Amino acid sequence: MPDLNAQSFDTLIIGAGSMGMSAGYHLARAGNRVLMLDAGDPPHDTGAHHGSTRLIRHAYGEGAAYVPLALRAQALWTELEQETGTPLFVRTGVANIGLPGERFLDEVRRSALRYGLALETLDGREAHRRWPAWRLADEHIVHFEPKAGVLYCERAIGACRKLALMHGAALRTNATVTRIESHASDSVEVVTRDGERFRAQALIVCAGKWTPTLLAPLGMALPVTRVRKSFAWFESAPDFGPDRFPGFAVTSAAGQFYGFPDLDGEGLKVGRHDGGQPVAAEAGLAPFGAEPTDLGDLQDFLAQFIPGAGALRMGRACEYDVTPDEHFIIDTVPACPNIHVATGFSGHGFKFASAIGEALAARIVEGASRVDLSYFSYGRFV
Ligand SMILES: Cc1cc2nc3c(=O)[nH]c(=O)nc-3n(C[C@H](O)[C@H](O)[C@H](O)COP(=O)(O)OP(=O)(O)OC[C@H]3O[C@@H](n4cnc5c(N)ncnc54)[C@H](O)[C@@H]3O)c2cc1C
Repeated sequence: MPDLNAQSFDTLIIGAGSMGMSAGYHLARAGNRVLMLDAGDPPHDTGAHHGSTRLIRHAYGEGAAYVPLALRAQALWTELEQETGTPLFVRTGVANIGLPGERFLDEVRRSALRYGLALETLDGREAHRRWPAWRLADEHIVHFEPKAGVLYCERAIGACRKLALMHGAALRTNATVTRIESHASDSVEVVTRDGERFRAQALIVCAGKWTPTLLAPLGMALPVTRVRKSFAWFESAPDFGPDRFPGFAVTSAAGQFYGFPDLDGEGLKVGRHDGGQPVAAEAGLAPFGAEPTDLGDLQDFLAQFIPGAGALRMGRACEYDVTPDEHFIIDTVPACPNIHVATGFSGHGFKFASAIGEALAARIVEGASRVDLSYFSYGRFV
């Protein structure tokens, strides 16, 4: 039975990070009475959204089906910049780099052709001439997206938070949700670690690593695992400024790496996308340097491809929530159509947060989203 003393809202959101803060903003803007609950005080460095920058690519190596979502997201990031007066995006361009025959590169090209996106293709020698810091083999292929670039992720969450609150959303920080109680198709309650209760007609669960634990009692067995990753900033040189060095995604025999030009004097930032260490559901994250590969992998990559990079400035550990096919899960809980879930972003979700937040809000307020999200159904694993 619902607790009649629980505070009541139209919608509750568990996890006001990348996806949740954006959904909260769009719901509040639509006049929905929404409460966002977060275990921390977002933006913060204990989820998946710290480290100051994220790449946004449009010609999508992970699948052309993502392109409409990426383009909608880009338009919404621009809108958010304008509404808050906060610079959130730098058009650095993004170079997708690999050897001929790489599936990722083929899909980048296919996406660009299918959706008419700007894409320039260079070989290794041409790329070196244009961006002197890169050392590539002649046979390397570079698919360069001039309109893609870098988002300031923590700033973007801050901007969503500002607008969400301005439009009347409520935000409860340092509130860890430990239980969800579903009463009917239009009544759900959540309980926090401190015993507070909140009730609403609809719920969005986008609580990163906690999502599978919260939804298991409702019969949703999410195939999402935690994987620890590392990334770091290195001493820079003039060749690493955004005018001479684009964002990049490299697929190589040694692994998949991504990186950013030196923005605001922070240094050259590089991370490894594949690899990493599985982490148990409730375990803490070992700090950067706890694994020899944290720095070793990045240094090996730099020695081969960007030999002018300087010494390590600072490193960080972070985590991905990974699905078996590395595609997202955005759906409702099968037994509870008023409980929405957005998880399994597998290390490439941030760029879409503006559009995913809008789509989740539209599903609740209008019953359907403008962008097709059927590609991300939970049903593909059941
Ligand atoms: C190192 C690194 C590099 C990346 N690079 C890119 C990139 O270049 N481009 C890109 O598009 N994506 C990138 N990603 C992926 C992207 O950052 C994530 O996919 C995205 O941030 C996930 O958003 P989220 O809302 O699921 O998680 P988060 O932003 O972490 O939000 C989850 C929120 O839930 C809260 N929470 C957790 N449990 C509870 C609970 N029980 N109760 C209440 N609140 C709770 C947390 O405090 C957190 O604020 C990268 C990720 C990492 C780690």
